[in-house]
Order: sequence, then C-alpha cells, then structure tokens
Amino acid sequence: MDYPKVKRNVLLNPGPATTTDTVKYAQVVPDICPREKEFGQIMKEMGEDLVKIVHGDLNKYTAVLFTGSGTINIDACVSSLVPAGKKILILNNGAYSARGAEVAQYYHMDHINLKLPITEPIDVAKAEEAIKADPDIAVVYCCHHETGTGILNPIREIGAVAHKYDKTMVVDTTSTYAMIPIDMDKDNLDFIMASAQKGLMSMTGLSYVIGNTAKLEESKDYPTRSYYTNLYMQYDFIKNKGEMHFTPPVQTIYATRQAIKEYWEVGEQAKWERHQSLWEAIYKGLDRLGFQTIIPREMQSKLVVSVLYPNDPNFDFTTIHDYVYERGFTIYPGKVSDLPTFRLCALGTIVPKDVDDFFVCLEEGLKSMGVQVPVKY
Ligand SMILES: *Cc1c(COP(=O)(O)O)cnc(C)c1O
Repeated sequence: MDYPKVKRNVLLNPGPATTTDTVKYAQVVPDICPREKEFGQIMKEMGEDLVKIVHGDLNKYTAVLFTGSGTINIDACVSSLVPAGKKILILNNGAYSARGAEVAQYYHMDHINLKLPITEPIDVAKAEEAIKADPDIAVVYCCHHETGTGILNPIREIGAVAHKYDKTMVVDTTSTYAMIPIDMDKDNLDFIMASAQKGLMSMTGLSYVIGNTAKLEESKDYPTRSYYTNLYMQYDFIKNKGEMHFTPPVQTIYATRQAIKEYWEVGEQAKWERHQSLWEAIYKGLDRLGFQTIIPREMQSKLVVSVLYPNDPNFDFTTIHDYVYERGFTIYPGKVSDLPTFRLCALGTIVPKDVDDFFVCLEEGLKSMGVQVPVKY
C-alpha cells in the first residue's frame, strides 16, 4: 500500500489504543451498502473469529455485534439476561462493575450491588456467600480487569462458583479480551464482552458480546427492558438475516477485519507477552523516577498502572499531561476513589522503546515544571 504514514501517537490511556497504519487504512474502501451479501460474509467471518479468539466452540458460543462503545454491551447483558422474578448479583469492586449496577438501577431491575473493596481482587468466598444467600439470583456479573485501578479479578474461580449454583456467569472483559488469554470453557464463562478499540487495536464504534448460544435462546422470553440493546433481538436478527439489525459501523468493521488478521499473525501468547513487556517497561521508568503506585504488583492485570502524584508543590497533572501530549504521548487521569493518581496503560501497538522514550519525555517535563526528580512523597 502506498498511503502516506500517519503521525504516530503513543497512547498510554486505557483505550482507544495506538493502531497500525494498515488498520487505519483498512477503513478506506469503496462505498458499500452493509445489506449486501459481500458485507454479510465479512460480518459472519468476523463473528466466528471473535468467538475463536476466546477459544469458544462455534457450536456452543456465538458473537452478537453492536454499534456503540463498550458500555453498550454492559447495557445489553444486564438488561437482557435476567428472567422474570429473578435477580442479578453484581460483584462490584471498581468503576466498571459499578456501571453494571447502574444499568440495573436505570432499568429498575431487582439487583444486588455487592460493594467490595476497590483496591483488592474480588474475594471468591464473599461471592459464594452472596450467591448462596439468595436463591432468586439468576445471573452473576463482574468485571475481569477493573480498568480504573488495574486490579485483575479471579474470574475462573468466580465462574466455577456461579456454575456450582447453576447461575449464568457474565463478565465484562472489555479491557482484557485479545490481551490476556481467555478461554470460555476453562474460565467458566457464559457471556463476555469487548470492544474493537481495546485489545484488538482497531477503531471505535464496534462492540460485541460472546455468549452461550443455548442461554441466548433461553432468553427469548425474558422481560424486555431495552429496545436498541436487547441481546436476544440482535442475536436473532444476525442469526436469521446474517446482518446487524441496525446500521453497522461499516468502516470500523473493515478496520477490525484487518486488526483480527494482525492478531492471528502475532498470536495470543506473543501478544500477551508484548503487553507484559510494556508493563515491565512502565515499572522500570516509574522506579527510575521514584514514582509510587497504588495496587500491589501481584494483584495487577499488567495492563494498567495507577501512579500516585508526587508530593511536590510544583507537580500539576494537566501541565505534565499537556507537555507529554504535545510530544506525542497521551497519559490519563486515575480512578482509585479520591486518591490523586494518573494511569499508564500497556495497550495498543506500542513497544518497550516507546515507553522508554515516554519516560525520557516525562523526566524533561517534570524538570521543566520544577518538580524534583527522583520525585518525593
Ligand atoms: C473501556 C471499558 C468499557 C467500555 O467503555 P466505553 O467508554 O463505553 O467504551 C467497559 N468496561 C471496561 C472494563 C472497560 O475498560
């Protein structure tokens, strides 16, 4: 392809992520109506790939695609998977699982919002206790990786408990899918969700739920609480018509087809190792500049690091953000309750050299602000 190179920005925010030029340019295609068979074929293959990425058996699992940001999946799963007279249990240990509870609240659904400490992974024993305590629970919901803090939750163990009591296990895997290896069966999952702009390193606007087909069929007669995000309706339409019910994000789908091709070329394990090497490069830089982090390393996803602001009157997040931003690096505010933190993330098509370059830039920026380096607490 002889398109010009696009200016490369190193995004250290928690998605959208840095993409390859080949993915960017995959969007440049002849105009097409998405109701054409040719486009339907692309969607069909994409749905199958999305299931295969999490080692799902195509006879058992299916992908349901939506036009929207990742939150559309939370909306769809929470609103569509709870039978009449039953409840959803939300294991809430951060901002993203809290969003699941908020959706339940907005749809006036009977739900249990089990608030757990946000600076540690979900305690499986507490989850089991809550499941046992209420026979009306039909669905157990949690987030794999709380992107706000960087905490990784033990979904395999939680899934095992959910299945022991015959509950449907729904997990928000938006910030781990296609980064940390996931296996639908081994990890005891029934429904997971993700969005093209995160682990797949594609464009925004395409989100998808991977679900157990038998359970999707069962949900046919569940109370309908939403129209646009009804999971069964979208599933049924894709199954019978081979297309999304409403207009798909056409260009993002082309980009995502290319991103999936690049995903298979790299391979699950090599990609996960690259993300981990970025995380190590982040810690190397933080340690060198004396920064402190919030979450113990062994509790982390290795995809997001929450960094504490230094205790220096000259430090100002916006100023340092703007300094590095003007030089091609994007950093992001934190989300660990009210603690003054910012986040550095290991998403996207970046390499450890990019992270090293970022820390050189960060050091210059801190010094130009008059912040003492190594930083002080
Ligand atoms: C990014 C993300 C989402 C989706 O957020 P949007 O802003 O709607 O794209 C959902 N869950 C998790 C865990 C995420 O990291």
